[in-house]
Amino acid sequence: MNTIENFDFKGKKVLIRVDFNVPLNDSFEITDDTRMRKAVPTIKKVIDNGGSAILMSHVGRPKGEVQDKFSLKHIVKHLTELLGVEVKMAPDCIGDKVKQVADNLQQGEVLLLENLRFHAAETKGDFDFSKKLSELADVYINDAFGTAHRAHASTTIVADFFPNAKLFGYIMESELKSLDKVMEDVHKPYTAIIGGSKVSSKITIIENLLTKVDNLIIGGGMAFTFVKANGGNIGNSLVEEDFLEKIPALYELAEKNNAKIHLPVDSLNADKFDKDAHVSLSDIDKIPNDRMGLDIGPKTVDLFKKVISQSKTILWNGPVGVFEFEKFEEGTKAVGLSIAEATKNGAFSLIGGGDSVAAISKFDLTDQVSYVSTGGGALLEYMEGKILPGIAAIKK
Ligand code: AMP
Repeated sequence: MNTIENFDFKGKKVLIRVDFNVPLNDSFEITDDTRMRKAVPTIKKVIDNGGSAILMSHVGRPKGEVQDKFSLKHIVKHLTELLGVEVKMAPDCIGDKVKQVADNLQQGEVLLLENLRFHAAETKGDFDFSKKLSELADVYINDAFGTAHRAHASTTIVADFFPNAKLFGYIMESELKSLDKVMEDVHKPYTAIIGGSKVSSKITIIENLLTKVDNLIIGGGMAFTFVKANGGNIGNSLVEEDFLEKIPALYELAEKNNAKIHLPVDSLNADKFDKDAHVSLSDIDKIPNDRMGLDIGPKTVDLFKKVISQSKTILWNGPVGVFEFEKFEEGTKAVGLSIAEATKNGAFSLIGGGDSVAAISKFDLTDQVSYVSTGGGALLEYMEGKILPGIAAIKK
């Protein structure tokens, strides 16, 4: 892997694609600086090693227009505090003035370019725009995993101008190493737990995982499309009628690959989709007509726990119930705890996707799993088995 660890940055100008797409409130205060904090080690590596860092990112969706509310100037002060080095703000991301500031950068200095998406050329992956960005520096680092699935100028096309000096930053390196452990170099038994609301958004992931896993646990709203396809009564539970006919093919794929699909066996039901709903329990395939399943029941918890505890590799994406409602959080919490327990016993566990990350954070288990991916869309595409352009651009 082309990583930064052993690269000599002394005297080099280094263009780093970071992910500073942080949420800001109406007073332009950063409400969650996680992404900025995560980027610090890569930037520090470059400047402590005698290089100068030219940082580029997007914020929000300005759609090719300069808009003050999307300016990266709002984050300069906080970045300066995080790095302990004064960060200079560029007036744009390309152009003569920016080139001049970049040329005058000294070792150890940091320059932050203005929002890349003030130029429509960024998301179009425009060649000339990419070339202009590349002319600012000697080395290119991509450390923005969250945008690695986009063939944008700053994430992909620009890499071609650095044939011998393009590298993955620390965030990218750890994402790729961890994802490799659930996609390529897998220790068996391997269990994937896929939950969330819809089968439709994850069917390609399920198909890809069925060629790799020993166990596929299905939970959450999407389980009911499976249960109904198998002839069960699911009451008012979430279902995607269009996908009923696709379920048998998934079972065939599982059989072909010696993978077992585990569905819930019981269901915690509600009379309405509400945190104060009346709660009752039933078998998964005997849900009364006026009830909807919002969490897995205790027998399912035991079943899933058993499968998880016997696994050496665990991937979790998507909650197994409406964990946002206290009455329906137990199943998701139990899955999180089982994964933590298995991890303690030596399994490798990777948690990915907004809602499962939010869930383990809600139950304070973040430090008890092996890796939490920040990927979002990039992670989902990676799990679908796609080659991400931002990753391919560095590797080729
Ligand atoms: P997704 O974005 O597809 O990963 O879905 C995540 C959402 O699925 C969460 O907000 C959960 O509340 C929701 N969810 C989980 N289980 C159920 C269920 N049984 N019925 C409806 N929604 C659910």
